[in-house]
Amino acid sequence: MSDTTIITIDGPAGAGKSTIARLLATQLNYQFLDTGAIYRCVALKALSSQTDLSDEAAVAQAALSAVIRFAPGEGVQHVTLDGTDVTSVIRTPEVSQTASIVSALPSVRAALLQMQRDIGNRGCTVVEGRDTGTVVFPNAGVKIFLDASPEERARRRHLELQGRGTAQSLEQIAQEMRERDSRDSQREVAPLAAAADAVTVMTDGLSIEQVVEQIKAIWSSRNEVAAE
Ligand code: C5P
Repeated sequence: MSDTTIITIDGPAGAGKSTIARLLATQLNYQFLDTGAIYRCVALKALSSQTDLSDEAAVAQAALSAVIRFAPGEGVQHVTLDGTDVTSVIRTPEVSQTASIVSALPSVRAALLQMQRDIGNRGCTVVEGRDTGTVVFPNAGVKIFLDASPEERARRRHLELQGRGTAQSLEQIAQEMRERDSRDSQREVAPLAAAADAVTVMTDGLSIEQVVEQIKAIWSSRNEVAAE
């Protein structure tokens, strides 16, 4: 039977997953699990310790030993890595690219799988990432694949980075996004993909509220089916 206590939201970079997932979680009173932040923490840990990214065992060891915690904050979810608040530093372009490199390593993904399931199993959860509907929570009752045109996604990421004071041109962002999407979609283990039972939502031209309402409508209809 489908389990509507888990809502998965997967999709490429800049599709609006974090914003939508966070708002949806608040409105449904679900917890929010940002799996990308977990991969970003591992990337940061590997960068800080100058781990050779081609040494899969060493990066997997960094993943296994990383103590990653989430704490709710005002409009943002705080992330700590080994006791240090890394909420902002994991969002730099360098960490984004490194996260996409380390996340392609099978033993890194294996090291992080149980951590994600343990958090999700604590209670009702909106989880966002790349493989949350296909691999991490295959029995989730609501699976969304959130997408938007490449131009729109680059524009959104540009605005987001500007807001954080990171100077990168639109073209540079679009280029890095293409590289990241291609690595995320083409890797052998748990590539970015819509689950067979996911509903794809194209967000071009839709407001954040409209997208959240669409997902809530899907969630309500699945709850009704589950109750029959
Ligand atoms: O979602 P976010 O942009 O924070 O994710 C950063 C990177 O982490 C992605 O580009 C992807 O390579 C990786 N990731 C992943 N699987 C997930 C979530 C993120 O491989 N479930």
